[in-house]
Amino acid sequence: MESMRIECIAIGTELLTTRRLDTNSVWLAEQLADLGLGLRLKTAVGDRREDLARVIQTALDRSDLILVTGGLGPTFDDFTKEVFAEILGAPLVEDAGSRADIQAFYEARNRVPPPANFKQALIPGGAEALRNPLGTAPGVFWEDPPGHPGTRIILFPGVPREMKRMWVDHALPRLRSLAGRPVHTLRLVVAGVPESTLDQRIQDVRERHGHLDWTILASLTQVELLARGEDPAALDRARADVMPLLGEDLACIGGGNLEDAVLDLLKRRGETLAVAESMTGGLLAARLTAIPGASAVFLGGATVYSAQAKAALLGLDPGTLALEGTVSEATSRRLAEAVRAKVGATWGLAVTGNAGPGAEGDASLGAVFIALAGPAGTETRNLRLPGDRADVQLRGTAVALDLLRRDLIIDQKY
Ligand code: ATP
Repeated sequence: MESMRIECIAIGTELLTTRRLDTNSVWLAEQLADLGLGLRLKTAVGDRREDLARVIQTALDRSDLILVTGGLGPTFDDFTKEVFAEILGAPLVEDAGSRADIQAFYEARNRVPPPANFKQALIPGGAEALRNPLGTAPGVFWEDPPGHPGTRIILFPGVPREMKRMWVDHALPRLRSLAGRPVHTLRLVVAGVPESTLDQRIQDVRERHGHLDWTILASLTQVELLARGEDPAALDRARADVMPLLGEDLACIGGGNLEDAVLDLLKRRGETLAVAESMTGGLLAARLTAIPGASAVFLGGATVYSAQAKAALLGLDPGTLALEGTVSEATSRRLAEAVRAKVGATWGLAVTGNAGPGAEGDASLGAVFIALAGPAGTETRNLRLPGDRADVQLRGTAVALDLLRRDLIIDQKY
């Protein structure tokens, strides 16, 4: 239903700071998209009554469905329901089921509910209380509130896991009848290509399939090309047209990221990987081990940050190291070969470099040396990566993974 106006309001002063990001609204947006419903607007508002009142009033004036998260708790700064009740002129009344749920929640934990907790059982008259199986704050579903026929309001607790559960238990069944046609997504993950290059390369296909909703999402490690549409066959046609343009730059299709692609390729080939990390300090291993099932192909490695560790753990000769420099192509090559041999892996991947903040000896800021040792020998890449320390480290892991990925596909033997 295209014309349905939907907005989200995320309540909580912490959401206006870097301490806590509003993840609820984006999660809800995804859920709405699955129903073929589009989120038009979202607002984050701090815990101040007058600000909240203004935001709510505006939402009532402009939206058909208002999804609100946060401020349902028992403390002084939780007043979402009060403000709705005031604006809509529907006094709060105690919901017996919610009171019993709060009582039971505490009894199950052998505790007595603090009196303030029963405040959570108060629900605006005419609204429906939504049971919260994971916490004590019930949600609220309010259809046709006074003065706003056709409007629906859903109040969720702020705690993401409670909100998600209540979406599934309560909101979905009540909203299904509003659903539009489900929207399908084509997702292609591309590595080693800048966003602008990708954009140019696919421009013709994008225009030819202009009825789809295209997005390019770039991060430090990969670029995602997304196309959304209601007709799965149209997405298949777009995919068939765009794939030849991506060639070996295409890392994966559907879910997954660059590291998933590398692990999958290794699994298919029955090969293994070990890493030697200097500049990335373990980040490469962390990215790989974040994927369930990585242990089938990722054997491990060493964080050899200092010359001392490079010598002690991977047997590099201190004299040669001093001569060749810890941040150098020669050292990265020796590290990759050493870790491959010591661990007994098919592939050894090493990263050295200077992530900053300043130049370090001979190594200029952002200078990165990557080496990949494999059955057919060792290859290296010398790069200059932009960004701050964390950026250079993360980009370094992506270049390393992509170097391996390209070798694994080029040299497919079947
Ligand atoms: P409860 O009484 O169960 O705590 P509540 O409705 O009062 O629920 P809040 O106190 O607003 O919820 O938030 C509870 C927790 O959830 C806090 O840690 C808060 O930072 C987090 N949270 C709230 N809103 C969001 C949001 N939009 N995105 C991510 N986290 C959130």
